[in-house]
Amino acid sequence: MNLRRSLNTKLPPPLKPLTQFIYNYWWSWTSERGSLFRVLAPDLWQDCQHNPVALMQTITPERLWQLAEDPNYLKRLQTLSTEFQTYLHRDHTWAQEAAPSITADNPVAYFCIEYGIHESLPLYCGGLGVLAGDHLKSASDLGLPMVGVGLLYRQGYFAQRLNRSGWQETHYRNNHFESLPLTPVCNEHGQRLKIRVTIRQRMVKAQVWQVQVGRSLLYLLDTDVIENDTDDRQITAQLYSGKPERQLAQEILLGVGGVRMLQALGIEPAIYHLNDVHAAFALLELARFELEQMGGTLDDVKPYVCDRTLFTTHTPVPTGQTFSVDMMEDYFSDYWPRLGLERAEFLALGAQSSTPNVFSMTALALQLTRSTNAVSKRHGEVSRQLWQNLYAERSDKKAAIGYVTNGIHARSWIAPLLEDLYQDYLGKHWAERISDPETWSKIEHIPDERLWQRHQILKARLIAYTRDRVLKSRQERKECSDDINAVERLLDPQVLTLGFARRFSDYKRSDLIFRDLNRLTRIFSNQKRPVQLILAGKARPNDTAGKRIIQRIAEWSRHPDLRDRIAFIEDYDMYTAKLMVQGIDLWLNTPRRPLEASGTSGQKVALNGGINFSVLDGWWCEGYKAHLNGWTIGEDAETRDQDVQDTIDAESFYAQLERDIVRLYYDCDRNHVSHGWVKRMKASIRTIAPIFNSDRMVSDYVNQLYIS
Ligand SMILES: *Cc1c(COP(=O)(O)O)cnc(C)c1O
Repeated sequence: MNLRRSLNTKLPPPLKPLTQFIYNYWWSWTSERGSLFRVLAPDLWQDCQHNPVALMQTITPERLWQLAEDPNYLKRLQTLSTEFQTYLHRDHTWAQEAAPSITADNPVAYFCIEYGIHESLPLYCGGLGVLAGDHLKSASDLGLPMVGVGLLYRQGYFAQRLNRSGWQETHYRNNHFESLPLTPVCNEHGQRLKIRVTIRQRMVKAQVWQVQVGRSLLYLLDTDVIENDTDDRQITAQLYSGKPERQLAQEILLGVGGVRMLQALGIEPAIYHLNDVHAAFALLELARFELEQMGGTLDDVKPYVCDRTLFTTHTPVPTGQTFSVDMMEDYFSDYWPRLGLERAEFLALGAQSSTPNVFSMTALALQLTRSTNAVSKRHGEVSRQLWQNLYAERSDKKAAIGYVTNGIHARSWIAPLLEDLYQDYLGKHWAERISDPETWSKIEHIPDERLWQRHQILKARLIAYTRDRVLKSRQERKECSDDINAVERLLDPQVLTLGFARRFSDYKRSDLIFRDLNRLTRIFSNQKRPVQLILAGKARPNDTAGKRIIQRIAEWSRHPDLRDRIAFIEDYDMYTAKLMVQGIDLWLNTPRRPLEASGTSGQKVALNGGINFSVLDGWWCEGYKAHLNGWTIGEDAETRDQDVQDTIDAESFYAQLERDIVRLYYDCDRNHVSHGWVKRMKASIRTIAPIFNSDRMVSDYVNQLYIS
């Protein structure tokens, strides 16, 4: 059955324009955002995880007809439709001027193993995926033709629940593709388009799906088709399942399959942008195809491959991603002859002198791409050092690893309540002039009271949401009624609120601030100037150390002196992220230097008037302006001993929080406004928003890497 057609019959004629939004995520960064759908049925909308297709499938026709005779709603719909048509068919875009050689027929092909477009499409784990989503959105806004290439996971990344002892449990939910804003791609005969890839001597078929992200198109491969072996149907079951064989199969599908899919779609990319190493096998497939066409040796076609490809590295650790040589033999013994290579020559493509007997995806990517870039200035320095050896082996040697600092898609991350204020004071088209410092100098025109009040509302909303989520978790765990009722006392909108949300892993040191529990308790439970904290984040399924950190934090947050002041929101996702970055006063990041490649959540916070209090690493090295827009934890230096370093950093955190931050926050006038704090909020917005956004990021990619 054609689902679009059935939706179309269900929609009353005046509501037909909704169809175009249901299948294009553009709505999610317009001024209407979810309200376009929420007003149809607020509860259902929430139950459907803000997924418009599922909403349309479950809503009653009666309710739709009610809206169909609401002139206000129809007017809003009409306005948005006009805006959308203008957006889609706009000429004279930034990219048309800046990159005329990139066209719809020859777009940028962007490869990534995960995509965070919206909370309703759970094909992401964290920062990498959200970055990819923001990249596609900004490309669309700038008019840069781009297609994304990825995988469609039946179960996605796991859902997190903590059991009574605070231990993370993993649950998988099935995605129902028919109830998501996805369309199967068909060939010229109207049959579903499927491509073939040989994986471990077996022919695997993958079906092609499409997601519309404004003007950008995201193509996804799905092996859960009836022709495949049961085992092969599972290739695209889960994201980062932690099983090396599964991971290798996925990366062959993404790289080799991705290139074939683009061919099947008739797309000839001007450039292949590999976002992280997981897609590096695309380089082999490009080489193989060229050899098939032109003959010759791999060395002959190398320049051709390099010329069309670039690689963004995201790891600041020396091992990077590797597969065992045994596994590579198993999966590639029938492939290397097609590249005209012997076993040893093939394995040399992934050789890394520091670790023998592994195949390094980074080594492969460095050797066969025109250029490699890191994701922040600091990460560039670290990467150049880290991969120096590998680089020395390149024939051209000329290109060192540069960097393009990550940024965020502002329209997706700004709170509507603040956007409204920005429209009033910065101008209606502030987002289109986001990189212009002039736009942001007008921040000073916003009266302190107005900015403060709106931020307070967003904070109160976050707290209401947090309580709701914590209540549900406690009920699910069947905790005692005292604990369940205690949710009413959890957090206070008047209190300075700290936030911390990201993956829990050892190097991110999420427990750093708990190092001196007595001191933390004293600061948090201060009668006159209390402090509170909201946390969220998952640990990778195999990461026992990460799970232990979560467990300890869960335990500490039950301490009688802390239990009203610390809340952990389970199952972190893009929706929780949105509410957190929009409502928090102070955002923490405490990685072990220099392991944070960039980080982006602090950028989302700053755009919304929150303030960063972070270790100088990743993007913060570029973003931080002393005495102006935030604070740093520890010094910009690393001692050799981790334990000593942790003590120094924790001490730095406590001292500044007590001495400077808490005082500044509670130094309020008669109307309960802290002008000193608002001054920092404004500085945070003004200095960070124009630079750390994805329009700037994509335009840097265009100018420095896509067209050079
Ligand atoms: C922004 C975002 C991230 C990335 O945040 P970092 O600061 O890089 O850790 C991770 N997960 C979600 C859901 C996000 O929205």
